[in-house]
Order: sequence, then structure tokens, then C-alpha cells
Amino acid sequence: MTIKEKDTSLEKKNISFVEQIVENDLAEGKNAGRIQTRFPPEPNGYLHIGHAKAICMDFGVAEKYNGVCNLRFDDTNPTKENNEYVENILNDITWLGFKWGKIFYASDYFDKLWEFAVWMIKNGHAYIDEQTSEQIAEQKGTPTTPGRPSPYRDRPIEESLALFEKMNTPEADEGSMVLRAKLDMANPNMHFRDPIMYRIIHTPHHRTGTKWHAYPMYDFAHGQSDYFEGVTHSICTLEFVPHRPLYDKFIDFLKEMNGETENISDFRPRQIEFNRLNLTYTVMSKRKLLALVNEKKVSGWDDPRMPTLCGMRRRGYSPESIRKFIDSIGYTKFDALNDMALLEAAVREDLNRRAIRVSAVVNPVKLVITNYPDGMTEEMTAINNPENEADGTHSITFSKHLWIERDDFMEDAPKKFFRMSPGKEVRLKNAYIVKCTGCTKDADGNIVEIQAEYDPESKSGREGANRKVKGTLHWVSADHCKKATVRIYDRLFSVENPSADERDFRELLNPESMKINANCFVENYAAERKPGEYLQFQRIGYFMADPESTADTPVFNKTVGLKDTWAKQNK
Ligand code: ATP
Ligand code: MG
Repeated sequence: MTIKEKDTSLEKKNISFVEQIVENDLAEGKNAGRIQTRFPPEPNGYLHIGHAKAICMDFGVAEKYNGVCNLRFDDTNPTKENNEYVENILNDITWLGFKWGKIFYASDYFDKLWEFAVWMIKNGHAYIDEQTSEQIAEQKGTPTTPGRPSPYRDRPIEESLALFEKMNTPEADEGSMVLRAKLDMANPNMHFRDPIMYRIIHTPHHRTGTKWHAYPMYDFAHGQSDYFEGVTHSICTLEFVPHRPLYDKFIDFLKEMNGETENISDFRPRQIEFNRLNLTYTVMSKRKLLALVNEKKVSGWDDPRMPTLCGMRRRGYSPESIRKFIDSIGYTKFDALNDMALLEAAVREDLNRRAIRVSAVVNPVKLVITNYPDGMTEEMTAINNPENEADGTHSITFSKHLWIERDDFMEDAPKKFFRMSPGKEVRLKNAYIVKCTGCTKDADGNIVEIQAEYDPESKSGREGANRKVKGTLHWVSADHCKKATVRIYDRLFSVENPSADERDFRELLNPESMKINANCFVENYAAERKPGEYLQFQRIGYFMADPESTADTPVFNKTVGLKDTWAKQNK
């Protein structure tokens, strides 16, 4: 059961329990004060924000305690893994702002693991089981009833050795046999009931090609890889808690094989588990995310609605905001569901400091400044970022024909409407104070044009220009702007916790998760912005140019609104 996290503050939590363990180990002088962690992605998909939580921990601990964090690609299942994933994982970690020490691959250890498996067989700790996976599962028992031994459990060592060799040939049929550890079929920990160490896979491996046909299972690769590399703290998520005794057991065997008694070396990697990140209105399972991509429910792994790091990057989230969010939720021993709104608040807070302010009109109506000379233009100065003077200014062209937001005009306005209505004055941002004089309608009564007169003495920045008017509106000049498409995103799923829902996750997708508005006008300066540049469309929200954008046909992704309007709607 996952409970929804109540905490909604963006403050960093105190030192985590993981850091506390590391500090205790340091205080006890373990491993001569050496700290080594690893981040171990399986290259079978793109990284998502859940991985970012693990990355922040693995790299964060190494950074904080003068250690090193290496990368290890857990590539023990060639049917699902490839180099495209490897490349993108490297790219995403770099984007998040972390530096790894070395890059390792579990496949680097296939020879060593094979040798170890042979030692296990020779010492009576492993055997080849020729039963089907169904038979093996059926004998496993339940947590409260012991399992039954396989009929192959006590076969001669020589037979197992010969069959293990055979497993690693193209002639062996997939599923025809497995290598199992001979541990304890009655152990209350199900992982001890003769776990599978090796299985047969004929799909070529992205690094070792067709050299191998027998591949180690996660449990027979992970701990040993940690040991080979000298990892001191192997930090992972809570679902590995029941694997820990087996992790330790295989390391015991490995030390025994190496003739390493506790007296010679007390080094052993220590597994520590923390809670996974779960976010409302999305899923973190790579299997499900891959299905969304393959079934074209989204445009790709980097679809801005995806919880992937590349999706968030394309949408306009900054790496700093993701790290801030992860710091604020902290690390515990209990699985919980975190509110997507908290992530969005972190994004909003960070982008407010970072974003360049531009003018964009997303629901346009014409405004004509009737007393402004035909053909005249003026370059107005627009401050890029009021939060950071160093970001400078850019110029925006003013002219007689403008676009403004339709919602910024009302013919019969209530008293409190401080935008444009006949007889009232407003300031056009970075330009003049104008007084609305009326509007023109079509035969159906739709407003097609608004008229106003400007006060030439009221130019922004001019001495004494700042007489009091209540409203300030954004605008773009009709002849000095680009027509733009804006993609507006909502939650990818329409239920809060899709992973806990009995229905198929595809049925839970929000059909309204993307809306396209192809009728926007943006100032030229905005049209020239590139993906990676954080923008605020003033008074509207945060946006980023999409990789499909060109200066002539700009396309923007809405990152997040200026306020959390979504929370209100759903009250
Ligand atoms: P899946 O089971 O969906 O394939 P995974 O968890 O197995 O995903 P890996 O690539 O094996 O994905 O994960 C690499 C590391 O990231 C592991 O240490 C894992 O514990 C951690 N991790 C994965 N998902 C999350 C999450 N939601 N929150 C925190 N850490 C995560
Ligand atoms: Mg995994």
C-alpha cells in the first residue's frame, strides 16, 4: 500500500538515514575511510525521475564524503538492452549535473562470474536443473510452506559441470535448463529457495555479441559486481530488502573462493535500501513507459508528458528544479506517493529565477492605435529577467497594429476589471498608456478589432511617464511577430495512482493530456529562442521551444503555468 505524502514544503530535509549509516561507518573506520557508490541502470529504457532520486543519492553521498560514484550498466539481459539506451543514460546523468568516476558494465564480469559459478558447482553449491520454469515455480512453496527439492538437486557434480558448459552453446534450447544455487528450499526467505543463477539466452548481446549463451541473473551479478569494483555502499530501492541476505550469501561464497577470511580482508559491500519515488498521475515502470512509446500513445521517450528526464528536459524543466524537488521529498524506509504538484512548484520556483520574459499572445484579437502614425515603428526596451539584471534586455517593436489577448478586453466591464474596456486606460507593457475608444464586431457579434488612442507622453521609462493606471497588458506588433504553435500539457493519466488501479494502465490515460494551439503570435525575439532556453510568456506561463521549432514556424511546449491552477480546478 502506498500512502500519499502529506508534506508539501520544498525545504531540504535533514541528513538522510543513508548518510547517517555512511557517517557511522566512517566513524568506525570501515574500509579505511573509503566511500565508493555506484549507479546501476539497466540499459533497457530511458531514465525517469525515479532514477533521478537514486542518482542524487548515489552521486550525492560520494560527493559529500569525498568518495567516488561509478556507473555500472546492469546489462545481463540482452533481449531488452541496447547502446541507444546506454548513450541516453549518460546524456541524462550529465544533464542532471553529476560526474561519474568510471563506467563499468556487468558484462565486463561475465568471465569472472562464470568462473565463480563453476566453483559453486564444484563445491556442491550449485546444480543444473532441467525442469521447466513452471515446474520450478510450482515446487517453490509459499512464504509459509516450504518448497520441494528439484529431482536434479543431488545430481553428480560432473554432470552439472558438463551441462553448464552445454548451456553456453548455440545448441542449448532456451528454457531447457538453468543453473541454480543449492541453498535451502525451506528458508522463509523465498530468495533462498535455490535461486536461479544462470539461464540460456541466444539473443546477441550489445557488447559481447554471440560469445555468451548463458547469462547470470541479477542476484548472481549485482553483489559480485559491487564486490569486484570495491563498492562500499550499494544503495538501492526497498524492493531489494528481501534480496539482501542472498546478496550477502553470494559474497560469502566469493570470499571463500578467494580464500579471503575476515582476517585477511573485512571488505564487503553493504546494501542499503531507500523508498522509490512514486508520483501522482504517472507511472515509473520502464515496461509501461516502453509500451506507451511502442504503441504510439506518446510521441517517444522524450514526449514532454513522460516522467523521463529527456521528456522533462524537452518540456522545459531545469535539472536544478528536479534536484531541488528530490532534496525536498527526502529518503525514507516507507513507500509513498508524492504529489506531482510539488514537483511543479519546484519547477515554477526555479524558472522564476531563470526564465527570460517574452511576449506571446495565445488567444489573439487585433488592437489598432488609431492616433499612432501609419508605418511608424519604435524599438522598445524589454527587461529579460527582473530577477536577474545580468540577463540584460532585448528590444520589441511597437507599431500601430498589435495583437493582444482576447480575454484582456471586455465591452461592458465590471468595476474591478483592470484591463481594456471602452473609456479606460491601461499600460501596454514596455510601451505606452492607451485609452480604449471602442471595438468593431462582425455580423455575428464577435469582436474582430479593438481601437485605442495612445498618449505619446507616457512612453515607458520616460521621466514622469508613470502615472497611475491599474492594468498592464502584454502585446505583440502584428507586422513584427511570428505565428506560433503552443502545446499545452495536462496530466498523462487521469487517475492519481495508476499503478494501484486494477484496470489496464492504457485505459487510464488522460485523453486531454495534450492540446495544441496553432493560433498564437510571439514577438520575433521569442521565435528565435532555442530548446534549452527557459522562457516565460509574460502573464501566461513558462515555455520552451521544442526541437521541432524553427524561427519561421516556432513551436513551444508549455512547461508549467505561473500558478497552480490545476489544484483549484480539482478541489
Ligand atoms: P524497471 O523495474 O521499471 O525496469 P528498474 O528499477 O529496474 O526499473 P534500473 O535501471 O534497474 O530500473 O534502476 C537503476 C537504479 O535506479 C536502481 O538502483 C533502482 O533501484 C533505481 N530506481 C529505479 N526506479 C526508481 C524509483 N522510482 N525511485 C528511486 N529509485 C529508482
Ligand atoms: Mg532493475
